[in-house]
Amino acid sequence: MHVRRVPSTSTPAPAEAVTGSAWITSLAVPEGASRTRVDRVQFAPGARTRWHRHPIGQVLVVTEGTGYVQRRGGPAQLIRPGDTVRVAAGEWHWHGATDTTPLTHLAIEEIPADGTTTELGDPAGEGEPAAVPAVTRTLLLNQQLPAPRVIDHVEIRRITIAPGEHLGLHVHNGPVFGSIETGSAVYQIEGEPETVLTPGDVFHEPESARIARFDPQGDGVTFLACFPAGPGETPSLTMLDS
Ligand code: MN
Repeated sequence: MHVRRVPSTSTPAPAEAVTGSAWITSLAVPEGASRTRVDRVQFAPGARTRWHRHPIGQVLVVTEGTGYVQRRGGPAQLIRPGDTVRVAAGEWHWHGATDTTPLTHLAIEEIPADGTTTELGDPAGEGEPAAVPAVTRTLLLNQQLPAPRVIDHVEIRRITIAPGEHLGLHVHNGPVFGSIETGSAVYQIEGEPETVLTPGDVFHEPESARIARFDPQGDGVTFLACFPAGPGETPSLTMLDS
């Protein structure tokens, strides 16, 4: 073990990698079998990296200021002290300060043993990127019920089905609306094509519909299920013989 005292030397970030002014302080370099490099990067207001990608990805930990990170095809996201950003291997992205505030982050990266280095692309756009709106609302499902239904309470349950479990043919005494949180499942209403539900997908099991399959794949599945129910009704599931 060795302790390095507060490093005092920072070097300007290479002009081919960053537009604007940024400074890099090397905190740790690969040593022995370790391939880990840790840098502190300080961006002046308006400074940002070019688009680039890292062979094994990168972890950014914001320590001061405010900035942006953006992956190709996604919106720029505001990042603040304490935020951690994991950039996937080979994912095109940029990071940097806002136009009016500096940004300091730690950059933690594994350096491949084969010598592959960060690949640089185009400069990131100029001016403040369109940040993620503070609130987004997306309509995921607007399900017409077969007939008007009296509802006086709604249960929301988080349901986890272990890998390898098969629920089998079943029916509910009311409509069920669900949203996959983690994992995935093969879903099939009897007589209809089967689909694979993955995180973020929503589904609807119509009242009295025979559900042929809700079978977890791989690591199992966890979903939220919403049961609108009428006076005196308790949402229930009845197993059927196939
Ligand atoms: Mn990066």
